[in-house]
Amino acid sequence: MVLNHGLPIFFILAIILYMPDLEELIYIIKEKNPVIDDASLELIETAFDYAAKAHHGQKRLTGEDYLNHPFNTAKTLAELNVDPQTIAAGLLHDIPENTDLTIDDLRQEFGKEIAVLVDGVTKLGTVKYRGLERYVENLRRMFMAMTKDIRVIVIRLADRLDNMKTLDVHPEEKKLRIAKETMEIYAPTANRLGIGELKGLLEDWAFFYLDPKNYQWTKNLAKERLAIQLKYIEKIKKILTSELRQNNIKNVILHGRVKHYYSLYKKLLRKDKDINKVYDLVALRIVVGTIPECYMVLGLIHKKWIPLKGRIKDYIAQPKPNGYQSIHTTVFTERGKIVEFQIRTEEMHDLAEYGIAAHWRYKEESGARKKQTIWIKQLLEIQKLIKDDKKYIQNIKLNVFQNRIFAFTPKGDVIDLPEDATPVDFAYHIHTEIGNKCAGARINEEIVPLNTTLKSGDVVEIIINKNRKKPNQDWLEFVKTNVAKDKIRIALKKS
Ligand code: MN
Repeated sequence: MVLNHGLPIFFILAIILYMPDLEELIYIIKEKNPVIDDASLELIETAFDYAAKAHHGQKRLTGEDYLNHPFNTAKTLAELNVDPQTIAAGLLHDIPENTDLTIDDLRQEFGKEIAVLVDGVTKLGTVKYRGLERYVENLRRMFMAMTKDIRVIVIRLADRLDNMKTLDVHPEEKKLRIAKETMEIYAPTANRLGIGELKGLLEDWAFFYLDPKNYQWTKNLAKERLAIQLKYIEKIKKILTSELRQNNIKNVILHGRVKHYYSLYKKLLRKDKDINKVYDLVALRIVVGTIPECYMVLGLIHKKWIPLKGRIKDYIAQPKPNGYQSIHTTVFTERGKIVEFQIRTEEMHDLAEYGIAAHWRYKEESGARKKQTIWIKQLLEIQKLIKDDKKYIQNIKLNVFQNRIFAFTPKGDVIDLPEDATPVDFAYHIHTEIGNKCAGARINEEIVPLNTTLKSGDVVEIIINKNRKKPNQDWLEFVKTNVAKDKIRIALKKS
């Protein structure tokens, strides 16, 4: 079919489809934030027009208008429900690098706050190193920016997500390098900031390029099961809805969540590649108004169905180090059928999906969120201590992205440590003086040697000797964290 002006319809369609539509962005923003004021919407409009003008005539490697890229970045940010300044900065983020306009121009037009955000993203983006150096430099910039304004990182993550979607235009080597970087730096950073949704998407795109065979295998495996599971979840949803209504629990939102491919793949590797052993391919999320209601819902579920032993996890009482809170439980719904439930309040849900990006909407700092800030401070400490690149990178990998264990103080505070950490590491993570005066330790109320390896969930009590003058030199042989090593060395030098 040919239209009157002679262009084939698919061509017209392609043009129409590729036109970034401001209304589409505004729609997402209003949907996520119904009370947004006119001034904020105006800011977004102005930023959109400004970006459209600035990038006018520029094309991406894919052939589409360049504007599509900042526009998609802004859409992701809008989905994350960040503040309007961040969305505007997302629209403007490539202007200093790709056009004749400068940060000063942006400052004049949009003010200091937005200029600082764009400048932060620009500085993160211009890495000129290769190989290990590039990797280190990336991490360093990322963490520097984090401490200045965390929103810079959120923009950068949204920017990277859109770049992953169009990665195919690059040569193989570049494709793999970017995918690897996404898997090793960007996805773990999203995870650490508690932005679960972005982490899942970034990992899945990286997985797609880095390991296409296993990506397809996982996808096919999931597809078959998914159709059956989603249908079954609908049935459970109906049963639960009437149960909740009978018990007067109002304003409940129920929805199924499907596991991301990469996270499913990792789980399959742990479960003999048997999808029948993965109980949370689809989980039923229950979002309620208050914390007491969360526990009421848990009670109702356990009254109705039999829970699986050892599968009840109370991340409300004991949040994950990235701030994640929910109650998880897995139950037998009927013969051979197993369903996982995730129960949380609306605020917890927001924080689980959007993490640090959601913080601006909640004024009071909750305990879990304070912990995130502490984590960022710790990263900076590591950075200050280590000058040598190789050592730095090892430490980041060891201290930040590797498997972590979560031990508890007797009061229930979570201490986040790398695997194989000992009570001495634990002590120094609480306080330098507790480390220096450490004389013994109890794990789960039993006295243990100080070189014992801690496991997740251990309750650790440090026994202190107030008269102790300095740490023991031998501790250096077994401590795992750099925080502990450095503090021991400093204390020994002093004495
Ligand atoms: Mn960009």
